[in-house]
Amino acid sequence: AHDGILRRQALRESAARTYARSLPIVPVRARGMTIEGADGRRYLDCLSGAGTLALGHNHPVVLEAIRKVIDSGAPLHVLDLATPVKDAFTTELFATLPRELAENARIQFCGPAGTDAVEAAFKLVRAASGRSGLLAFTGAYHGMTAGALAASGGAPDVQVTRLPFPHDYRCPFGAGGERGADIAAHWTRYLLDDPKGGVPAPAAMILEPVQGEGGVNPAPDGWMRRMREITQERSIALIADEVQTGVGRTGAFWAVEHSGIVPDVMVLSKAIGGSLPLAVIVYRAELDLWRPGAHAGTFRGNQLAMAAGAATLAYVRENRLAERAGTLGARMLARLRALGADHPSIGDVRGRGLMIGIELVDPEAEPPTVTTENGDAPPPDPALAAAVQQECLRRGLIVELGGRDNAVVRLLPPLTLTDEQATAVVDRLADALRAAER
Ligand code: PMP
Repeated sequence: AHDGILRRQALRESAARTYARSLPIVPVRARGMTIEGADGRRYLDCLSGAGTLALGHNHPVVLEAIRKVIDSGAPLHVLDLATPVKDAFTTELFATLPRELAENARIQFCGPAGTDAVEAAFKLVRAASGRSGLLAFTGAYHGMTAGALAASGGAPDVQVTRLPFPHDYRCPFGAGGERGADIAAHWTRYLLDDPKGGVPAPAAMILEPVQGEGGVNPAPDGWMRRMREITQERSIALIADEVQTGVGRTGAFWAVEHSGIVPDVMVLSKAIGGSLPLAVIVYRAELDLWRPGAHAGTFRGNQLAMAAGAATLAYVRENRLAERAGTLGARMLARLRALGADHPSIGDVRGRGLMIGIELVDPEAEPPTVTTENGDAPPPDPALAAAVQQECLRRGLIVELGGRDNAVVRLLPPLTLTDEQATAVVDRLADALRAAER
């Protein structure tokens, strides 16, 4: 049955949809971190629906919340109308937000996906400022629709100015950490203030506190604070895209808390829907200058998603899962870094909380000619990363790949994983790496 299902799917779906080809699993049951395939095999899931499943698959609290709505006879979809379910979700969400924002914020329910919320944020800041340009960063990912894609480096027809995102490994400035962050901030000021050939005053800057799809690049806290200063000084709205970093993933409920900055707009999706599609923007009330109805979209009022989301947010808050993600993530990072000592093919291990990336390199290859602090860093090895993903799968571990060269193995386990599961993830990954290196 397993192979038959895979074959039929491959025949029906576009060849462009290659994603599932590298993960030939037919999930039929799932609970917590475990997925069971139609072939009877069990897998530890470090994909978590691309970071959507903060509580893992089918958490009883989430299922109960969904059932309660269904059993109550409440409507499942009512567009923007007020409902008790929506009220409960919004109240719970606002209780988690940075207080300075929550005290004076509006919320807009968007389409079902993160990319819808990104588009809404862009429309909002453009209407509020009367300006059209956007600032985004190298390595950014904000979604697949035209505006979000432009900010991710994909569609040149929308005016986006790209600024350097500071990162330690292969730092373009030859200096990692806060020094690299200093240089990046300096560049940003320079570009914005250059009277000739500088960037025309933009409507907003959008950033991810930890870049996810870009290869798990945590932004230094000092750099985040500088970006807040720079945007504040110039009355440029700051949009924090917390679609992937939100709901405890990085060791704080929202990743902006690490630096203490308060953005003007927060873009939220994935885990806020407790595994069902939900996306919102939360923004400073002063920005609320767009026309009524300026942002619509049919599927923005999914009651089941709001109920599942409210239950997830409350569970993460009450059980201090952000803290747990921080300690468990640090432990996993330390073990993975130690593994790097025996494996020259591990170029870098980085992350924050349970958002972890292992960049694989080819130590035998010629180093790049550009001289930087990481000048002798060997080039990324996407083939090895793909092989590690396959070997992981063989060992019952599902991992994702990402990064500019697709050479970063990404781990996004649910925040509920046990100590034993965390150990098993690193053990299996280490095994898979040994097998792939051969
Ligand atoms: N922003 C970030 C930071 C993301 O990681 C993603 C999805 N990976 C998106 C936006 C887009 O979300 P969606 O895929 O739901 O449109």
